[in-house]
Amino acid sequence: MTYRVKRVDRLPSVVDENVVYVCDEYEIAALKCACGCGHTVTLLLDDGHQVRDVEGFADISPSIGVWDAACKSHFWIRQGNVIWGRTFSEHEIRAAMGEQLSRHLELTQLSRPWYKRLANWITRGFRRQN
Ligand SMILES: [Zn+2]
Repeated sequence: MTYRVKRVDRLPSVVDENVVYVCDEYEIAALKCACGCGHTVTLLLDDGHQVRDVEGFADISPSIGVWDAACKSHFWIRQGNVIWGRTFSEHEIRAAMGEQLSRHLELTQLSRPWYKRLANWITRGFRRQN
């Protein structure tokens, strides 16, 4: 599977394979799980994952853990390509999820300072010019 980036105003109800939908306004992204199980993965951007557009191909960091689906897939997406990570144990999954959650809460409590929004805005404007 090769993932391309598609910027959208709203996430579509039907998610195509090979596409990472990025909604800047709501800072959310969606893609189909790379294993082909059909599960739709939703990513929280900004304080969670970052999706970069590399000449149309998706570059996502950090790695994606599909812990809420039966496949428990774990993979990276680099310039559109899937790089498989090792499968986490139940214990590791719980630890990773807890870490993600506490990071999210910590950042939400700080209630996103204005300069971060400004930086985002500038980066976006910059990207459009390219
Ligand atoms: Zn899967």
